[in-house]
Amino acid sequence: MTSSFSNLSLAEPLARAVAEMGYETMTPIQEQAIPVVLSGQDVMGAAQTGTGKTAAFSLPLLQRMLKHENSSTSPARHPVRALVLLPTRELADQVAQQVKLYAKYTNLRSTVVFGGIDMKPQTLELKRGVEVLVATPGRLLDHIEAKNAVLNQVEYVVLDEADRMLDIGFLPDLQRILSYLPKQRTTLLFSATFSPEIKRLAGSYLQNPVTIEVARPNETASTVEQHFYSVTDDDKRRALKQIVKQRGITQAFVFVNSKLGCARLARSLERDGLRTTALHGDKSQDERLKALASFKAGEVDLLVCTDVAARGLDIKDVPAVFNFDIPFNAEDYVHRIGRTGRAGASGLAVSFASGGNDARLVADIEKLIKKKIELEPVEFEEDNPRGRINDGRRHWREEGEAGDARDVLDQPRERRETEARRGGGRPHRAPSAPRDPFFDKPYEPGQADATPAWEAAAKATPSRGISSNIKTKRKVAALFKSAETS
Ligand code: AMP
Repeated sequence: MTSSFSNLSLAEPLARAVAEMGYETMTPIQEQAIPVVLSGQDVMGAAQTGTGKTAAFSLPLLQRMLKHENSSTSPARHPVRALVLLPTRELADQVAQQVKLYAKYTNLRSTVVFGGIDMKPQTLELKRGVEVLVATPGRLLDHIEAKNAVLNQVEYVVLDEADRMLDIGFLPDLQRILSYLPKQRTTLLFSATFSPEIKRLAGSYLQNPVTIEVARPNETASTVEQHFYSVTDDDKRRALKQIVKQRGITQAFVFVNSKLGCARLARSLERDGLRTTALHGDKSQDERLKALASFKAGEVDLLVCTDVAARGLDIKDVPAVFNFDIPFNAEDYVHRIGRTGRAGASGLAVSFASGGNDARLVADIEKLIKKKIELEPVEFEEDNPRGRINDGRRHWREEGEAGDARDVLDQPRERRETEARRGGGRPHRAPSAPRDPFFDKPYEPGQADATPAWEAAAKATPSRGISSNIKTKRKVAALFKSAETS
């Protein structure tokens, strides 16, 4: 049963703001988290954007801060008391806007700082004094170093979208920021997943946290037509173009796992005459807004993006979603394709499985969505696959594309962290990791002398030690056996 905000005894200014926003009943995360935060305990919450998580932590924090609300205009009377950290500019901006609305009728001040724009206006805001500071880690460190932000009076810290922050490589930045905060404080950590890394982070920085988990939307809508194609890295673009053309797709998200892969794919599709725009972390704020606006206005058909850039975007229903790369996290698959087939509309989700760890990732998705995934071969319109025509010699640029997308992710974490903090840059080229034998040999029906794909998959040496688990291997083998016999 969901309960009403009126049961919470929120302070009048907060209750007024909530009423003005039209909220009546609490969402599940609000119902569970608000009383815990009000009681002063640390929280480890599994919840994603869109669940009402921002109000779940903002309202009780503001309520507690109201006890020492100050109407003085002196900056000294408005020290940073709550710090909210988020991985991307868009998310930080979104959360900051919500906090402002909830705090509208209080004397508590808030602001947001993120990279990619001039530091000066942010500095002025910080110098005026703010109680709630919403920030991305890199820019916050710049302000700390410039002595614009002083964090020694922080009472509450929220690590929001913590899994994303670690994915981007913000761990060292987070550790540094947390080292500036008083030990005596309340810490809230929200993450879509509780990976071992997240648990380690929580173990180091949270004290006896209360774990809160709201039901995850692990189900994919039945209105979404899902296809998984087995295709080599080289043929992914060709497959994408063919499907876009055959289906007459005019609006789709195309998800790519790396920023570099994202930029390159978008450029290549554009060269091929597809109306495309890219959205990834290396784009300036201005470029991102422009990309979004042109996609929303229908000026471009394909929005090529990374998960981080797509998070929190206010584009909820598109006719099709492509997973140009299989996501590393099965839950991201559900998020990604959740953008299509909403509210009973029909949607299309197309995923390309190629080399590397894709077999394992597909098996993870299958487990999560509790649906059997059949890998389909791509039948190209042209009879002569390009690889055979040109003797397997590829243009250097193509070589770079396939290689880079993998290499960025194969790098040691420290290197990726450094790259991410530096805002990308050209990643170091690591030697290609051994590839999964199954995926090096795309499924070719009726080829008598080929090692059956499922057998090869079963024998496969895990390329990066992740799929060594025998159960996973069997599952993958079964998966491919069914693909072969279907
Ligand atoms: P969030 O997950 O915090 O990004 O919130 C997602 C959206 O839900 C935002 O647009 C909020 O304004 C809205 N929202 C949050 N809580 C409630 C609520 N209890 N009732 C209705 N809408 C809400």
